[in-house]
Amino acid sequence: MAGECFVIGYPVAHSLSPVMFTAAFREVGLPWSYRAIAVPPGRTPEVLARLAARGVVGVNVTMPLKQEVLSQARIITPRARLAGAGNTLTLVGDAWEADNTDWPGLRQAIAEVADVDELVGSGGPALVLGAGGAAAACAFCLAEMGLPVVIVNRDAGRGELLAARVGGQYLGRQDPSLQEVLAGAAVVVNATPLGMTGQDGASPLPPGLRVPAGCVACDLVYRPVETEFLRQARANGARVVDGLAVLLWQGALAFQRWTGQPAPVETMRRALRGAVGGEGR
Ligand code: NAP
Repeated sequence: MAGECFVIGYPVAHSLSPVMFTAAFREVGLPWSYRAIAVPPGRTPEVLARLAARGVVGVNVTMPLKQEVLSQARIITPRARLAGAGNTLTLVGDAWEADNTDWPGLRQAIAEVADVDELVGSGGPALVLGAGGAAAACAFCLAEMGLPVVIVNRDAGRGELLAARVGGQYLGRQDPSLQEVLAGAAVVVNATPLGMTGQDGASPLPPGLRVPAGCVACDLVYRPVETEFLRQARANGARVVDGLAVLLWQGALAFQRWTGQPAPVETMRRALRGAVGGEGR
C-alpha cells in the first residue's frame, strides 16, 4: 500500500531527508513517498491535523519545530519527553506518537567509530558544546551510555539548566579549567551551528583548544561535512563522527519505526553522500 511520509521544518528546503528516505523506500521495494513541507512556527497543529486526516505514515521534524510538536502528540516516548524534543512522529490510529531518534542515532553513529565500553572505561567525560534541543538529546544519550557529561555553552543559564537535567556539570566557554577537562575527554560533540556554511566557518571550541588524540569528535553540522572542528580534531588524532552520520542513523531508526523492517543503511548513506557531492564517510 502506498504510504506518505514528510519532513516539516522552517525553512526545510535544504533538508536531505527526502533524498535519504526516497532511496530507502525504493531499495526495499515500498511504493512510499517522502516530501518536505515548510511549516512556520505556530502552524504545526493545523498541519499535523491535516496530515493525520490523510492517514500519513510518519513525519520527521526539524528546526525550529521539535519542541512545539510535543503538544500535538498523544503519546510521547520517554526519550522525547526527557530531551524535550520530538524529531520522529508516527501516526498510531488517529493520534501522533512523538519519539526522539537523534538520541539513539548519536549512539549508533559513535559506535561506528569506537567501542562504547572502551569510551566509558577511559573514565573521561563527554563534552557537549551547546545547550539547545539537539544538545539535550546528545547529553541524555551520552549520560545513558555511562559517560559523565559536561555542558559548555555561551548562555550560562541555559547551560546550567541542561547540566542539571542530565545530572552533569556546566562549564563556561572561558572557564580556565576547560582546557584540562577537554584534554581528558572521551567524547566531544558540537551541538551548536558554529562551523556551518554561511557562518564564519570557525570551530566551536575557543581558539587554541583542540579535541585530544584518541577522543571521539562528533559534529552535528553537516554542511560542510568536514567542518573546521572535525578537521582540527582529525589532525590531532581524534576519531570523527560527522553530522551526516548522525542524520543517517536518526533516519534509519525512523525508517524502522515506520516500516517495521531494518533500514537499508548503506543505501541511505550513499544517497546522503551523493546529495552533498561525495563528501562524508
Ligand atoms: P538550538 O536549539 O537553536 O540551539 C543552538 C545552540 O547553539 C544553543 O546552545 C546556542 O547557545 C548555541 N549557539 C548558537 N549560535 C552560537 C554562537 N554564535 N556562539 C556560541 N554558541 C552558539 O539548535 P538545535 O536544534 O539544538 O541545533 C543545533 C545544531 O545541530 C544545528 O546546526 C542543527 O542543524 C544541528 N542538528 C543536526 C542534526 C543531524 O542529524 N546532523 C540533528 C539535530 C540538529 P546559547 O544557548 O548561548 O544561545
